[in-house]
Amino acid sequence: MKKIQCKREDIGRGPLILVNRDHPLRESSVQLVPLDSLSPEGEKVCLERCAANLLQACVRSVGGEREIVLVSGWRSHREQQDIWDATLKTDGEAFTRKYVALPGCSEHQTGLAIDLGRAARQIDFIRPAFPYDGVCGRFRQRAAQYGFVERYEQGKEGVTGIAHEPWHFRYVGTPHAKLLQDNSLSLEEYVPFLRTGPKNCLLEGRIAQVFYAPCAGEWTEVELPSRCGRVQVSGDNMDGFIITVWGEQR
Ligand SMILES: [Zn+2]
Repeated sequence: MKKIQCKREDIGRGPLILVNRDHPLRESSVQLVPLDSLSPEGEKVCLERCAANLLQACVRSVGGEREIVLVSGWRSHREQQDIWDATLKTDGEAFTRKYVALPGCSEHQTGLAIDLGRAARQIDFIRPAFPYDGVCGRFRQRAAQYGFVERYEQGKEGVTGIAHEPWHFRYVGTPHAKLLQDNSLSLEEYVPFLRTGPKNCLLEGRIAQVFYAPCAGEWTEVELPSRCGRVQVSGDNMDGFIITVWGEQR
């Protein structure tokens, strides 16, 4: 029997961490890289290394290099605070609570979230236009293949606590983006879904099995299927780990 050990402190690390008003970011230790494209203000947009590579690949695959603008990626706590304060001042509290996450509770602080906009002379920094048709629509269709999901969907406001944000994408990796999409789940709903039992996902001819392992102390021992290929572990930023086991390479 193959086994792996998961460390308690890794609950707050990995592409599947849930960061929202109930689950603040615990730490930030990801490797950030600047993206080639420029934001409207000419500042470099940074993302976690894996997310950055796959985002660029997805944008390229739909020929969106000129039309898709990276509006906002990684933010420090300070930047999130500044955005919160400025929005509060100009747009009031109700608007701010709807569209801006509390400092410490923003996905942008993880380096795994990106706000996208369609190229235009004027781009709204808080609510950029990113429509459902044209090249932006093609990006949406491909996003899950590259590990991205539209994070704050219409109809999920009661679950996510954030208004519908067509521009905000979150990197969760594969096969999770596809599992979320196929089952119409927000990230908040993913762990409860996995707790009902292991899930299989077929992706590009390979089977991935995803299951949940609750934290069982300083170290959590997780048994793996006897025949398995690559294994990935992500914390959930709550109280456990999401394990992904890929089928053996043939
Ligand atoms: Zn955003």
